[in-house]
Amino acid sequence: MSNEIFLYERPIKKDYDFNMWFFFPGPESFAMSSLGYLWLYRAIDMLDGIDIERVYSDTKTTRIMRDKIDLIGMSFTFDTDFMAIFKFLEWNKYGLKAKDRKETDPIIFAGGPVISSNPEPYKEIFDFMIIGDGEDTNLDATKLCHELKDKPKSEILLELSKMEGVYVPSLNKTVKKITKKLTECIYTPIISDGAFFPNTFILEVERGCANRCGFCLASYLNLPIRFVDYEKIIKTIELGLQHTNKIALLGAQITAHPRFKDICKYIEEKIDNGQDIEMSVSSLRVDSFIPEVVNTLVKAGQKNLTLAIEAGSERLRRVINKNLTEGQIYKAIDVARDCGLKGIKFYGMIGLPTETQEDIEEIVNLSKRIKQKYKGFDINFGFSTFVPKANTPFQWFGREDEKSLEKKSNYLKKELHKLGIQISISSAKWDYYQALLSRGDENLADYVIEVYKQGGKLGAYKKVAKEMNINTDYYATETYSYDKPLPWDFIEIKPGKEFLMEEAKQLVNR
Ligand code: SF4
Repeated sequence: MSNEIFLYERPIKKDYDFNMWFFFPGPESFAMSSLGYLWLYRAIDMLDGIDIERVYSDTKTTRIMRDKIDLIGMSFTFDTDFMAIFKFLEWNKYGLKAKDRKETDPIIFAGGPVISSNPEPYKEIFDFMIIGDGEDTNLDATKLCHELKDKPKSEILLELSKMEGVYVPSLNKTVKKITKKLTECIYTPIISDGAFFPNTFILEVERGCANRCGFCLASYLNLPIRFVDYEKIIKTIELGLQHTNKIALLGAQITAHPRFKDICKYIEEKIDNGQDIEMSVSSLRVDSFIPEVVNTLVKAGQKNLTLAIEAGSERLRRVINKNLTEGQIYKAIDVARDCGLKGIKFYGMIGLPTETQEDIEEIVNLSKRIKQKYKGFDINFGFSTFVPKANTPFQWFGREDEKSLEKKSNYLKKELHKLGIQISISSAKWDYYQALLSRGDENLADYVIEVYKQGGKLGAYKKVAKEMNINTDYYATETYSYDKPLPWDFIEIKPGKEFLMEEAKQLVNR
């Protein structure tokens, strides 16, 4: 049993008349390190009249009885989360599709990046979905369901369909994605020793990334980049430090925060004054590999730093919009080494649009040059293969075929091993199905259900596609023409499809 510290005052609830499960499609330890999930839970937990229980993929028994549940919310962060979601629905004897559930069954909804980017493969599963930043919409939708609890489902869904950011597939033809101003600093309101990052207080410093790499959902789904006020961040850090010494700053491009150096200075001064603080950051951009920042992180216990270079050649880095020069990479290593770090990890991607064998060879050549210049300094690589994501400029580009990706992977493994560089590469086979789901349409609902029923292993994805006569290449490897209607076009999202198209055309011609 893990020990939980609540950082907010929980109302004493005696008179609730509405019960809710909030499901996380992963084990409890992951849920307890999930900022978004815990923050939304807190907001609903503070409402009068509603009893909410956290439920995870490894929950064995629930406190609230199944037959009392009025509403179920779910987070959907990764493409394969549907497996845990279906298992949970079956465990509780709910139909997997909305139409197969009874009037007396609870309303079931989901939100998260997968849903916000392209909800179409799941439109038959959920009664409604939240598109975009969920803090306010989740809360408002829950309140509405509570208010209308005695009405028929159809009436509740009708009211929900009128809300901005809510997509009721049976009613809405379009939906507007919500982009919220960051008026508060959100944090993990429960600190747990059983969390994946035990006893760690996680807070959000900014949302999104202004860099706009052509493949990056974290950037395009969250435009424009938004920052939390410095004063609010400091106040929140102080709140966390009352309960733990482990602080993690979150954001896709945290170092772009105009006062990031001040945040580091604030922490560093506390450490210099004898306070025991461990601070970590999710990732650093190359322009933040500066002594002030890296020094603080090293002092605060961060052991490894990673730098996403994405591609080996400057040409390809320009194409994906990661305008990173070799000189900047050297500068970053200089700083890391001067600050006492023994090595650095690089992230890269293979199979990117326009990539040639020369670009791949350039990864090896660059590694050779680094090894020669920085003797004794450890570098290692983590690669994934390109997955086109809905609502990014590279959404039109298909994946490279598996054989050619494998050839590239084997070449990199062989050549980098020769240099004594550790390398890990994501599974091209899994990434293929990730692409299928990411660019999926409503025809995939039965497919994902059947994949689940057949165990969800890689073989099941292939076998079911064959049985159901689904052309998986159409979703994963085909390059679409720019004028092709896309399944997710109905989402009103800023900056919009025209903008993505212009970006795509301009990037691939660099
Ligand atoms: S720098 Fe990183 S987070 Fe930002 S757009 Fe590029 S890949 Fe995404």
